[in-house]
Amino acid sequence: MTSLLALLLLLSCPPAGRCADGAAAAGPRIRVAISRGAPSLRLRTSSSIYAQDMKSGQKYLLLEKASYEVRPSAGGISVAGQELSSPIKLLAADGQERIRLGGNLYKGDIVLRAAAGGGLDIIEHLPLEEYLYGVLPSEMSADWPLEALKAQAVASRTYAMKYINPARDYDITNGVEMQVYSGTNKINSRVMEAVNSTRGEVLKYRNRLVTAFFHACCGGHTASVRSAWGEDVIKPLYGVPDPFCKPSRHYRWEFYVSSADLLRAVQAQGSTALKIKNMKIHKKDRSGRAVSFQFATDKVPVVVKTTDLRKRFGTFEFRSTLVGRISPVRGGYELAGRGWGHGVGMCQEGAKYMAMNGKPYRKILRHYYPGAAIVDYE
Ligand SMILES: [Zn+2]
Repeated sequence: MTSLLALLLLLSCPPAGRCADGAAAAGPRIRVAISRGAPSLRLRTSSSIYAQDMKSGQKYLLLEKASYEVRPSAGGISVAGQELSSPIKLLAADGQERIRLGGNLYKGDIVLRAAAGGGLDIIEHLPLEEYLYGVLPSEMSADWPLEALKAQAVASRTYAMKYINPARDYDITNGVEMQVYSGTNKINSRVMEAVNSTRGEVLKYRNRLVTAFFHACCGGHTASVRSAWGEDVIKPLYGVPDPFCKPSRHYRWEFYVSSADLLRAVQAQGSTALKIKNMKIHKKDRSGRAVSFQFATDKVPVVVKTTDLRKRFGTFEFRSTLVGRISPVRGGYELAGRGWGHGVGMCQEGAKYMAMNGKPYRKILRHYYPGAAIVDYE
C-alpha cells in the first residue's frame, strides 16, 4: 500500500523570535533521517517557501497556503510536476519556517532526497547539540533526576557522533533501532540544562569513541556487546554487575507463550516438527543471559536464538534475554525474567536510582562504561 506523507510547513517562532538556541548552534552537525523511502508526500505551506536544487543552487518558489505533491522521478525529484535534481532543500522565504511532520516539529534544515532503494528520504540537518535536545526526552523521561539526564546526554552524544559519516546520505535514523528522536516537541529547561552542562563531552576508550549503547533496565547485570550482537568487545562494553536497578518496576517480567506459537517459531527455522514437547535454555552468556533455546519436538531438537524469539513475540512482551524460569502451563510456557532491553551499556533505570542516591553523572558513566574516559570532542 502506498501512503502519502503530509508535510506541513508553518511559522512557529514567536514574534520576539528565538529560533536558534545560541548555545546549541555551534559545533558538529548531524543528519537525521526522519522518514525513509516514502513513495510520495504532500507538502502544505502556511507561508511561501523555496525548494532549492542543492546542485545548481536554483530556488523555486512555492506559494503560501498551497498543496504540492512531491515524488521521486527519473531525473531526481518532482515538485508539483517541476523536475528538480536530488537532493532539494526546503527554505523559508522569510527564514523563520519550521516544519511539522507526523505531529513533530523540526527546527533544522529539511532536505528531501531520492532514496537509493526508491522513494523519498526526508533528512533533517541540524547541530548535534540541538539534536540531543530532541533525543533526551524521547529516550529518558524529561522529569528524571538531572544527573541521570546528563549521563544520558553524554551517552547519546557519543553514540550519535560514532555514526557521523559524510560518505552516507544521512548519519542516523530517528527510531528505536538507533536512538529515538522526535524533533523539538518535548524539550524543556531540564533537558536543555542536561545537554548544555555536558556540552561536547563524549566517552572514549583508547582514544576512540565508544559505541555508547544504553537500554531501559539490565535486571542486575549488563550484557556484553559480544553476546548481544557478536561484535568485538572492548572493556567499556564488557558488561558489569548492577545492584542499582533492583527497585525498578521493570526489574522483573513474566511472559506467557503458547506451544502453538512456539511451534510456528520452530517451523520458521525450517523444522518439519508438528509438536513442541519441551523447551529449555540451550546456551547462556557470562552475564546469565539466554543466547539460545532448545526445543524438544516430535522430530529432531531445534535451537532458536533468543534475539529471534524476542523479535517474533515482541520486545515489549518478551522483555529481555535474561530468563530465569520456564514453567509449562495451560498449553504453553510461562517465562520469568529480569530487565528490559538488550542490556548493553548504560542501564537507564540504574542511572535513575544512582542519581536519586546523589551520584553525579560522571560516576554513573564510569559505572556503566568502565575504563572509558569522559573527554571533549573538540
Ligand atoms: Zn541495571
